[in-house]
Formats: sequence, C-alpha cells, structure tokens
Amino acid sequence: MGINDTGKLEKIVSLCKRRGFVFQNSEIYGGIRGFYDYGPLGNLMKINIKNLWWRFMLQENEDIFGIDGSIITHPKVWDASGHTSSFFDLLVDCKSCQKRFRADKVGKTCPTCGGGFTPPRKFNLMVETSLGVVESEKRVSYLRGEACQNIYLDYDNVLSSMHPKIPFGIAQIGKAFRNEITPEKFLTRMREFEQWDLQWFCSPDRIEFFFEKWKEKRFAWYKSLVNVKEHLHLRPHAKDELAHYAHQAVDIEYQAPFGWYEWEGIHWRGDWDLRRHGEFSGHDFTYTDMTGKKFIPNIVETSGGVDRTFLFLLFDAYQEEAVDGKEARVVLKLNRKIAPIKIAVFPLSVNKPDIVDVAKKIFQDLKMDFQIMYDDNSNIGKRYRRHDEIGTPFCVTVDFQSLEDKSVTVRDRDTMKQIRINITELKSYFEDKFK
Ligand code: ATP
Repeated sequence: MGINDTGKLEKIVSLCKRRGFVFQNSEIYGGIRGFYDYGPLGNLMKINIKNLWWRFMLQENEDIFGIDGSIITHPKVWDASGHTSSFFDLLVDCKSCQKRFRADKVGKTCPTCGGGFTPPRKFNLMVETSLGVVESEKRVSYLRGEACQNIYLDYDNVLSSMHPKIPFGIAQIGKAFRNEITPEKFLTRMREFEQWDLQWFCSPDRIEFFFEKWKEKRFAWYKSLVNVKEHLHLRPHAKDELAHYAHQAVDIEYQAPFGWYEWEGIHWRGDWDLRRHGEFSGHDFTYTDMTGKKFIPNIVETSGGVDRTFLFLLFDAYQEEAVDGKEARVVLKLNRKIAPIKIAVFPLSVNKPDIVDVAKKIFQDLKMDFQIMYDDNSNIGKRYRRHDEIGTPFCVTVDFQSLEDKSVTVRDRDTMKQIRINITELKSYFEDKFK
C-alpha cells in the first residue's frame, strides 16, 4: 500500500536526520541555506549510488574513460564556456515582504504575501573565490559551476595517453557550485552539489544517432533503479528553453511529491565546447579520422545530479504499511544494491553470552563481504522497525534454537517473512541475493 504524497518531503527530511542519512550543514549555527552533510548511512548510500553509475559507465559500456578533475580551473575556462556572460537566472523581489524568487518559478504575485514584484534582474550563478598569497594581487577564480568543463580540458590528454578512437566517452563525478537564488526542496536545489557527467565525443555526422542512443540508455538505467516506473518520463526542451550551447536537449524527469523535476539532462552540444576552448586557448582540437577526414569532435552530454538521485530514490522507496491491522511500519524499499546496510545481525537476548557470542562471530565472518551492522539496541521488534526504516534488506537473528542446531532466522525486509538457515550457509545465501 502506498501513501498519499502529502507531507512526504517533510517525512523524508525528518527520517534523514533521525536515522543519520542527511544533516543540515552548520546546524548549531542555525544552518546555511542550500548546504547539507551526508551522515553515516547517507554516506554509505551515496557511495553505493556512485558505484552503480561508475559500473554502468566503465563496465557496461565500452570506450568510456573516467577522470576526477579539480574544482578550480583557470578562470578563462568560464569565459570560453559562456558561464561568465550567460550563466544567470532572472530574479524578482517582492515589493512588500522583500522576499526574492527566481522569475521563472513564480507567478505575478508573491506566494508568501501576495505583493507585486520588481522588474526581473539578471543574477549570475557562479560562486567566486580568490587565489593568491598577496592580498593586492589576488585573482578572481570560480568554483566550477558545472563539473563537465574538466572533461573538455582533459580531452586531449586522454586522447594522447589512452589512444582511443572517436567515438569514445569521458565520465566524471564531481562537485559543482551555484549561487542558486532560491535553494529549495531539501537536496533538490542546493548551492553545493554533485554531478555525474558523460561527454561522448563523435563525428558531426553521427551525433544524431548517439543523441538518440544515450537518451534511451540513460532513461533505461534510471528506470532500472526505481520501483514506480511511471514516475519517470522524458521531456524534450522547447526551442526557447535550450541552453546557449545546445542544439537539442531532453530531460529525464522524476515525479517528485512537488511535481515533475529534472533528474538528468541529455544535451546535443555539437562542437560548441571544443571549438570555444580552441578559440580561447589557441589549442587545436582538430581530429583526423581513419579516412583522413578532419573535424572538431561533436559532443553528446548526459549530465545528472547525484544528490537528486539520492533524494528521488528515497521518495521512490518510502512506504508506510499497515502490519496485520497494527501500527503502520515505515519501510524503505530500496534497491538492494543501494541500501546502505545490507544485513543486520541481532542477538535475540543481550543477556545470554552464548547467543551474543554466536551473533558476534557471524558479524565478524561476514563483515568483509557485506556492509553489515551488529545491532543489540532495544528489543527485537524495535530493531526490525529501525532496519525497515533504513532499508536493510535482511535481518539475521540468533536465538535459543541457534545454540542447539546452529541455524538462524533471516527476515526479508519487503515480505517480513522469516526462514531458518544454517549458519554455515549464510555467506553463499547472501552472495546469491546480492549478485
Ligand atoms: P535546473 O533546471 O533544475 O536548475 P539545470 O538544467 O540547471 O537544472 P544542469 O546544469 O543540466 O541542470 O545540471 C545537471 C544536473 O545537475 C541536473 O539534471 C540536476 O540533477 C543536477 N543539479 C543542477 N542544479 C542542481 C542544484 N542546484 N542542486 C542539486 N542538483 C542540481
């Protein structure tokens, strides 16, 4: 049974804090808008999410290379990319309550007080910093507004060190920074966030083919992660919303409780990036193919958000279920590969040293093969509820029978059914489940 979406965002925010997934950054100072920290379980879940993405890019696909570029680049990069001149949102201020909004996200009157707005003004989203040891000689630099620029900067180095032939791709996961006018909806719109990008380099005459191909592949990948497939769709960009570099673009959108929201964009960037970096740096990006044809490589980009993935997967997984007519349980039906803790091990009673010893031994034997947690807090019913709430797929309980026949119960998160398994068979049982 699903739940009504009303209040789902608030419930997720609360669960994230209570269970150690995500904390407001600088909370003891009153917080800072648009910045969040991942806690112990959130950190594990984010690692799992990123590993799945790398696996898709580097193992399921051929001819893709991974890099990890620095956050600060030469400031000219952002002139060449068009960010210093074109990376802005239009903002409006309410004349009555002075609240500030993105012009494209509000209507004609202020949603807070009903007041009228000032005319829209341009607001650049780049986050500035300065570099240099002598105060008077410090130079303005930027924290990257999008992670993908490193890929264009390293394109030639990858070509000459790894010797791929076009078409090939370069992938990266990295932080990006935007001075968003209205950070909102928890991890949906942050000022510091993480992006995953693939830049696929191809010849101009094959770009249409690859644009279609990557659109389908990425859409199928996101679908494989969620339980409710209908909450995903593709939305092509209208001509007037295309970014300055894009010939065509399509967004993979997710139906969040607050409406459809971009999860990943697939962009037909043409030769914009390498041509511009060529013009601004003087570097020649001309590629000569096997037939002797010369061209500036064209690019298809797939660019998604790690934090949005994290949040949207929580929306998708969150369920409140009535259990045998009793109190509802909250359960995160997370994909097993994404769940932060794979297996929890419980001693039925903390006062029985024999039971505790067996449970601790199981924990020690499995801990290098699975992300596993030993949990002896409060009673067994509460432990099950806690692990349902953090999405742990399996709970192993050592009880009195275990001392006699060396078997334990294994409880499945989704069905809540328990089976008995011999302790010596646990490892292969779980290997099979997490294959
Ligand atoms: P939006 O229209 O929602 O502002 P965008 O079109 O500016 O997004 P891109 O520049 O294409 O986004 O960035 C690629 C991905 O990075 C987005 O699909 C999204 O998942 C993620 N992303 C962008 N901005 C943010 C942000 N402020 N906070 C969290 N994730 C973001």
